[in-house]
Amino acid sequence: MEARFALLPGDGIGPEIVAEARRVLEAVAGRFGHAFTFDVQPMGGAAIDEFGDPLPQSTLAACRAADALLLGAVGGPRWDDPTAKTRPEAGLLRIRKDLGLYANLRPVQPHRALIDASPLRRDVVEGTDILFVRELTGGIYFGPDGVDEDGSRAFSTMEYTTAEIARIVRVAADAATARRGKLTSVDKANVLEVSRHWRRVAADVVAAEYPGLEYEVVLVDAMAMHLLSRPRDFDVVVTGNMFGDILTDEASMLPGSLGMLPSASLGDPGPGLFEPVHGSAPDIAGRGVANPLATILAAAMALRHALGLSAEAEAVERAVASVIERGLRTADIAAGGPFVSTAEMGAAVAAQLG
Ligand code: NAD
Repeated sequence: MEARFALLPGDGIGPEIVAEARRVLEAVAGRFGHAFTFDVQPMGGAAIDEFGDPLPQSTLAACRAADALLLGAVGGPRWDDPTAKTRPEAGLLRIRKDLGLYANLRPVQPHRALIDASPLRRDVVEGTDILFVRELTGGIYFGPDGVDEDGSRAFSTMEYTTAEIARIVRVAADAATARRGKLTSVDKANVLEVSRHWRRVAADVVAAEYPGLEYEVVLVDAMAMHLLSRPRDFDVVVTGNMFGDILTDEASMLPGSLGMLPSASLGDPGPGLFEPVHGSAPDIAGRGVANPLATILAAAMALRHALGLSAEAEAVERAVASVIERGLRTADIAAGGPFVSTAEMGAAVAAQLG
């Protein structure tokens, strides 16, 4: 198949890790007989320096023309000036909004060989394999808000329409159907009217369209505890924007290393955005020691979700698992032991793909 990737290296370690993901995608193309093209575009602080805009029109146009977007990370102390007209992160928020990326997918699956890096006990974490599906363009982050003129009161409003809830529940239910067949919807229906609406709509969609799924609802405060006490019990978890923001950050600690976690933001129609969960790590940028595996796993998600290439995605995931099992480590997961460079790790995954 022919496919076009827009590569958005961004700032800090972004260029180093995206280069390795590209190397792996080229290995996939070679092994499976695909023709992938790569259009590298500036975004974030790098784009502010060059164009005065973290998401220049030319970058946005290239993104619209692509089948999938692969982002490194944006931001860094150079652009942290609070008086600046624009910030690198503004580019990220705009691209999500402009491309209608309403579904954020974050898999959390600690690798067996790295489980001792988790802050939780091995017997709690082992076997965890959760896919979070977070609503990304609605809820309290986008509802009406304001501050009274005298500054004595402020408000933010959580709103969800039936259509917004139904479409994100469908994304999650489709994913659960393709996985272990269990869906958990997280809300705060004991207190919030908007959550009672969420709960009704989610139940209706599941009953009418996915009767074969095992379905449960959990309150968000209880979910925060279950994630630390019995994470193995969950398959796909669907929730709103703010609850998802908090729960996915909590869950990202289960594997013990940020450098291994990918994420996908999907819209309909149009290309999805695939990126590592971590930021631009300015403290290690330019030293060739960053872990490229989260970005490589994000590229695997692009193969699966944007291009429908599941076998290729699984091949990349197996290649990553196998280099980890062989003992290859970047500094962040080496626990003080010997480690390889960013490029050596990328090359090892590419070589594993043959
Ligand atoms: P960070 O995720 O960049 O770094 C946190 C710690 O994890 C650092 O010690 C870093 O060295 C380490 N780390 C992160 N990724 C790593 C990797 N692949 N390999 C090895 N070590 C890794 O978070 P931060 O320091 O809070 O933020 C730095 C910058 O990134 C800020 O400007 C922030 O706004 C931005 N940021 C961007 C995104 C994004 O682009 N999506 C997300 C989060 C933060």
